[in-house]
Amino acid sequence: MRANPSEYEMVAPGNLSAIVSLLAKEPGVWLPIAGGTDVMVQYAAGKLAARKLVSIWNLPELRRIEVTPDEIRIGAGCTYTDLRKHEIVGSEFPLLASASRWTGGIANQNRGTIGGNIVNASPAADSLPALLVYDADLILVSVRGERRLRYENFHTAYKKMLLANDELIQTVCLPRRFDTYFSHARKVGARNAQAISKVCIAALGRMAKGVIEDIRIALGSVAPVPLRLTETERIVRGKAIDPALVLSARNAAAAEIRPIDDIRSTARYRAAVAGNLVAEFLHRLKAEHQEGNAALARWNRLPPDEALRTILPCCGSKAWAQEMVSRRPLENEAELLATSDQTWRNLTRSDWMEAFQSHPRIGESQPSHSASTQSVEWSAQEQSNVATAEAAVKTTLADANREYERRFNRTFIVCATGKSAQEILEILRRRLQNDAETELHEAAEQQRQIMQIRLGKWLQE
Ligand SMILES: Cc1cc2nc3c(=O)[nH]c(=O)nc-3n(C[C@H](O)[C@H](O)[C@H](O)COP(=O)(O)OP(=O)(O)OC[C@H]3O[C@@H](n4cnc5c(N)ncnc54)[C@H](O)[C@@H]3O)c2cc1C
Repeated sequence: MRANPSEYEMVAPGNLSAIVSLLAKEPGVWLPIAGGTDVMVQYAAGKLAARKLVSIWNLPELRRIEVTPDEIRIGAGCTYTDLRKHEIVGSEFPLLASASRWTGGIANQNRGTIGGNIVNASPAADSLPALLVYDADLILVSVRGERRLRYENFHTAYKKMLLANDELIQTVCLPRRFDTYFSHARKVGARNAQAISKVCIAALGRMAKGVIEDIRIALGSVAPVPLRLTETERIVRGKAIDPALVLSARNAAAAEIRPIDDIRSTARYRAAVAGNLVAEFLHRLKAEHQEGNAALARWNRLPPDEALRTILPCCGSKAWAQEMVSRRPLENEAELLATSDQTWRNLTRSDWMEAFQSHPRIGESQPSHSASTQSVEWSAQEQSNVATAEAAVKTTLADANREYERRFNRTFIVCATGKSAQEILEILRRRLQNDAETELHEAAEQQRQIMQIRLGKWLQE
């Protein structure tokens, strides 16, 4: 039956506290509507039971993304476009970035929110397997305050979840500890975008010394809720990947899933595809590991002095380079990046300063301190967008740089790759408001990101 618009009421109080008060006053009466991409489909089909809607679209409290040293906190009202464009989501949570690219078309990505995807609770939802493997937590909010729970416990059965009818999802928190894993995402549907998944996979894996050190696999559309394949993971963890293990993993995955027949596919087809996706992931994980890296293998064999000289431009701190050399042999890129992060975090502040000083000011080509030719060349690549910026922006940037140096007594460090001069200027202005301790850690995090990018380039040389 077609919906009659006069039967519906929609309000938009515009702030979170007014909205949760309204939900508490008449529990179950008001339906939150964010981007509306699911609610409006129900409305158009005459299947929307709720008659009173409260808009939570574009609420500042739900639309921010906060990055702390340990986690990223994504507001539930962030759209797929917000996620696709976010630098840390792209670099550290590629499975979520891929899911955001695959969800609907551009118009849908501009409106659909991650909170809406979670509460709509489709077993085929693209972002949910990624949340499972990244060990997401949810922060829920109501007039009673906030509560935090693990996402893996949130969906309890088909379209059932641990959300009271006066609660909203406020934030999705992802721990920042998976950036050294190999990640693999695939969506099997009629096509990638604008199609609901028949089966989708989000998986992370890390190999060490020829065996699977850690593995995390989640599938969508194979059960009433998105499913983590914990039994399959248990069977393969600690083992080398060979044809017998791949077969065991296929069988374990087929035994774990609970697919159904529906208009998009049959249960049998879904079981076969699920097995294939798990096998494909294991093959790719092995290939990635075996490829090792010719450059890394050569570096592992170099005399210590030469090994130190060649890796130093990736960071600038001698203590970091010495520790990296002492940790050889490093087996693959993932181990190299993980060792780099760990070493960087354990350095003293004066080591950090040494690394910071190896960079030129943003907008200039020469560092204040002597840096290698390689480092100067990489800095020029990283800042290529600044070099072509308008003269006025460059001048403002130079002034802001000087203000930063007066305030913090060192060069401003930002991971400039892919950023325009204007974006860098905005970041610089924001960071000028930081206190000294916050700013030191922010600069150290930016340096860590620069090092990850440089190590990747270094391996390609
Ligand atoms: C053309 C089209 C293509 C699509 N393609 C895909 C696809 O490829 N993959 C996919 O996964 N999905 C797809 N979707 C589904 C949809 O876009 C997503 O589920 C989207 O993330 C929903 O977000 P929303 O903000 O639009 O939710 P809304 O429609 O506003 O809300 C959906 C539900 O979530 C509740 N809700 C929303 N936010 C919150 C919150 N913060 N706290 C509590 N409850 C909340 C609402 O009350 C409602 O029950 C598609 C939809 C369309 C129309």
